[in-house]
Amino acid sequence: MSAAQSDRLLRGIGVSPGIAMGPTVTVRWALPEVPHRVVARQQVEKEIRRLRAALKDVRRQLQELRAHAEDRAGVDEARIFDAQMLMLEDKDFIGGVAELIRENHLTAEKAFEFKTLEVRDLWTAAGNPLLKERLADLTGVAIRVIQHLMHRGPGSDVWENIKQPSILVARELSPGLTVQLDRDQIAGLISEEGTRTSHAAILAHSIGIPAIFGVRGAVARIKQGTRAILDGTRGTVLLDPTAEEIEEAERTDTRRRELATRLEEAVNQPSVTVDGVHVALRGNVDLPDEVVAAKHHGAEGVGLLRTEFLITGHSELPSEDEQTKYFKKVGEVFAGHPVVIRTYDLGGDKFPAPFRGAVEPNPFLGWRAIRVCLDEPEMFRTQIRAVLRAAVTANLHMMIPLVTRLDEVERTRVMMQEEAERLQKSGIPAAKSVPLGVMVETPAAAVLADRLVQVSDFLSVGTNDLTQYTLVVDRGNARLADRFTPHDPSVLRLLKLVAEAARAAGKPASVCGEMASEPISAFLLIGLGYDTLSVAPPALPLIKWLIRQVTTAQARSAADAALAARSADLALDILRFALAEAVDLTLLDPDARLPAGRRSGSLKT
Ligand code: PEP
Ligand code: MG
Repeated sequence: MSAAQSDRLLRGIGVSPGIAMGPTVTVRWALPEVPHRVVARQQVEKEIRRLRAALKDVRRQLQELRAHAEDRAGVDEARIFDAQMLMLEDKDFIGGVAELIRENHLTAEKAFEFKTLEVRDLWTAAGNPLLKERLADLTGVAIRVIQHLMHRGPGSDVWENIKQPSILVARELSPGLTVQLDRDQIAGLISEEGTRTSHAAILAHSIGIPAIFGVRGAVARIKQGTRAILDGTRGTVLLDPTAEEIEEAERTDTRRRELATRLEEAVNQPSVTVDGVHVALRGNVDLPDEVVAAKHHGAEGVGLLRTEFLITGHSELPSEDEQTKYFKKVGEVFAGHPVVIRTYDLGGDKFPAPFRGAVEPNPFLGWRAIRVCLDEPEMFRTQIRAVLRAAVTANLHMMIPLVTRLDEVERTRVMMQEEAERLQKSGIPAAKSVPLGVMVETPAAAVLADRLVQVSDFLSVGTNDLTQYTLVVDRGNARLADRFTPHDPSVLRLLKLVAEAARAAGKPASVCGEMASEPISAFLLIGLGYDTLSVAPPALPLIKWLIRQVTTAQARSAADAALAARSADLALDILRFALAEAVDLTLLDPDARLPAGRRSGSLKT
């Protein structure tokens, strides 16, 4: 990088690979400046009428957006707009705005702003991270209503008005916002907050939009309309590029696309190592439209079907029938292969609107995942029944997240038996049981793997959370991204422990964390003895290509050497050199980064 480039180059964490070029569009999740103006007494009723009309119009806008989202992302995702529409009908809130107009003679927009700020302060003071999602909804609605009252276009729908493919710059991207993005209009994403394992990042990766998160000060530093080259593989943004820089980026893009074409050839070939060992390669699916991508890229089933997106941002929990239908549909697409349904992993950063818990100072160490499900048996049993019913026609497995104790598995199995009996008694067609797996994503579960495997049918390692809890590093904290590495000697030992426990019990062990989507790590995991990898759909061809070029003996000796390393950096060096024996690493992007955006994890030989 030249000196002339350094002040135009911003760095972040590449969370979704690929190059995007275009003008930037900044999304400011802030209320517009509303001039302070009072109206004459006789104008008051007119302001109230203006408010009512604006609410009606914004409701119509939201309905249109909802229909748009339904076409693009599916019925379930479109429901994120329901929460916003409900806010427009909230009697207390709207009544409060009308009262401000009547008592203080404020304009409708000023009154709406006051009321919004009052509620926002109240929710912020509550310090409840679960209210974060609602705060974004509240701000979103307020922006629309106030802009409408001020006769401005619906500016918060920037992506709706974009005329050429642009790069979106935001302070933070929520999963709810990300699901609305139109791939044809949004060429790339830049966010100040978040890391590769934030759910918005996982979504961007799945949808296939190049993205960089954790770019400090991006909103202030990147002026609206600046031309930029975003490289989601390298995790960089280059502002005001020169003609040569644009040419170079285009060359890189072409080279990557060429490689992609070669990888595409791997799609229809078996996922076997050079010495003929089959490594089952499955897809991770968050949203319905990823099912198609996973299938298209040759996934042998789904290794992680996240179910939170069935309810995130919705105003009601999904019914048993709705869930049955979804599970059945996914099962049909992968007929003959397993689909592993992860039961609700609520809590932490995934608390949807219909299901809010009490305020907790430490939500990631709190009431989440299997703990919530066991405490809310009606919700859990509904999901279990849906799995059993759908399993009549599909090869479904069920997996429970954030396990720390044996009794969590045992209680789930009892519930499954009870629900199977209930369904049978009611004459509803349903499977008697489905294989029950444990998601190993806490140090407790990894250390107890030999016992957990006795009470379950398979183990699947969630390396995102396992890394977070082992290293005590918040997976969403951009500042700690350097410390978030699944190659740390402590995590490697746990990974080895889990694989050995499964092998000793003769049961399958897989990895479904993001780590499995990255070639060096996939090589390591094969060497540690994992027989199944579940990866982000876009990464399927790359990992298949990798599997087809290595022997298990090479992978094993590399994994043994990595296990002996004193640090994550050394472990990565060892793996990189070992992999270079089998694979032409120069074919891969020399600046590609590992999940945590570690430079030391680059594929450079
Ligand atoms: C994990 O923790 O590794 C995982 C796959 O689950 P999630 O990312 O949904 O927490
Ligand atoms: Mg997890």
